[in-house]
Amino acid sequence: MPDYQQIRQELEGIAVEDNPALVKQKSRDFYWYSPILKAQLDNVTADLIVSPKTEEEVIRTLKVAYAHGVPVTPRGGGTGNYGQAMPLSGGIVLNLLNMNRIKEIHPGRVIAEPGIITAELDRQTKAHSGQELRFHPSTTGTATLAGFIAGGSGGVGSITWGGLRDLGNILRLRVVTMEAEPRVLELSAWDLQKVSHAYGTNGIITEVEMPLAPAYDWVDVVIGYDDYMDAVRFADALTHRNGILLKEVAPISAPIPYEYFTRHKPWLKEGQSVVVLMVAPHSMAPLVAYAEKMKGDIRFRSDKVESMKGIPHAYELAWNHTTLRALKVDPSITYLQVQYPGPDHVEKVGKLVKIFGDEVISHLEFIKFDGAIQCSGLPLVRYTTEERLEEIIRIHEDNGCPIFNPHRYTLEEGGMKQTDTVQLAFKKETDPKGLLNPGKMIAWDNPDFDFKSGKNYLFPGLQSFM
Ligand code: FAD
Repeated sequence: MPDYQQIRQELEGIAVEDNPALVKQKSRDFYWYSPILKAQLDNVTADLIVSPKTEEEVIRTLKVAYAHGVPVTPRGGGTGNYGQAMPLSGGIVLNLLNMNRIKEIHPGRVIAEPGIITAELDRQTKAHSGQELRFHPSTTGTATLAGFIAGGSGGVGSITWGGLRDLGNILRLRVVTMEAEPRVLELSAWDLQKVSHAYGTNGIITEVEMPLAPAYDWVDVVIGYDDYMDAVRFADALTHRNGILLKEVAPISAPIPYEYFTRHKPWLKEGQSVVVLMVAPHSMAPLVAYAEKMKGDIRFRSDKVESMKGIPHAYELAWNHTTLRALKVDPSITYLQVQYPGPDHVEKVGKLVKIFGDEVISHLEFIKFDGAIQCSGLPLVRYTTEERLEEIIRIHEDNGCPIFNPHRYTLEEGGMKQTDTVQLAFKKETDPKGLLNPGKMIAWDNPDFDFKSGKNYLFPGLQSFM
């Protein structure tokens, strides 16, 4: 057992918290979205929360942790939903919320500290020079910039700009290593893939340079369709209208909108599916013209309501907020993350909708993927058993639709089910003792793990919390 009294002394001058209730609070994220992760991770907790204010304090913390062999799990806003920021071996949770300054704003780019909340970053860059992040997670009000980079994938704006893994969507990262003498590395271009979406397993991000896009007062629009597949076809066709500037395109099947979008209910029609959109103000006239041509029923426009007070933004109906809204009404609901590879993505959606009916309720996000428009999905699942969930996953994959399993806490099982050799090689270089966010990279803990065995990986360190 590490000597935490001694560690506290060595961290003198840096904010440290060991009140068990507060430590537990900062040791969790949105893992409870998954009934499977909820059962596995409910008791996970750190020993200390350390909240550095500067890169120098991060370096000092890592140095002390390394010397004592104590695990360190970085944390931003704690909005990840696969237990990404949960300390499976206890130890230190490194809370980066206090490193939240913007350092520089230039035409087309911003340099910021890791813990800035993305909505706050957008607010400041918009006020400074009418710019905003190219895309943000739907949790923009609570998620941090580095948490998004280390734990997220894309979001509101990905219809135009693609995702975080696309070259050019992150410009530069400063990363501190977990060694006896921590080093500060600057990564750009292809090297960014070493730490982007690596859950903080191979370095602590202390500075971020991101590209910016022109900011608009985006208009929220909700368009109804009696037939869900008409909504999907409209969304697909709309995203191919080159001249209409969109930030968000999400077809969502009935009964989700009317049952779960409670604040929008006065505008919605029972039984209708919807397409949730964010549209640039100057694109509204062409959008309306196109919706009329495609027989869409425009139910809601934020530029026509008297006040938006109490009405959530369109993006808070989309991405994983759709799931959150459903969970608030029906806690037995869960979800999946599906890819529908094009060019026949619409047909694939149609086929799966037919197979599952009301058991798996479709929610799609249109995004640019390798230059082409495609859709991914966050369908809601009426959860019965783990076995049935596995069967639903298998049926999707048998129909050519890969699942990124949100019911797993490891990078590999939640992703492509294979070792990311680049991230693993970088971890060997930056974290030789394996102290950064243990248990999240199977390739590190168990290089012989067979992803085809059908077995789930269980991190041995977790047993101490069971
Ligand atoms: P955290 O949850 O705190 O951390 C995420 C990961 O990053 C963890 O592994 C953590 O260890 C690591 N990390 C944090 N800071 C650092 C650092 N400085 N250096 C190294 N590693 C670090 N995700 C999307 O991609 N798009 C969405 O639209 C989206 N919508 C969501 C909606 C809801 C309702 C919820 C609950 C989640 C959603 N997510 C989405 C997932 C999550 O909110 C995002 O990925 C978010 O950006 C994470 O930011 P965070 O600051 O909360 O990170």
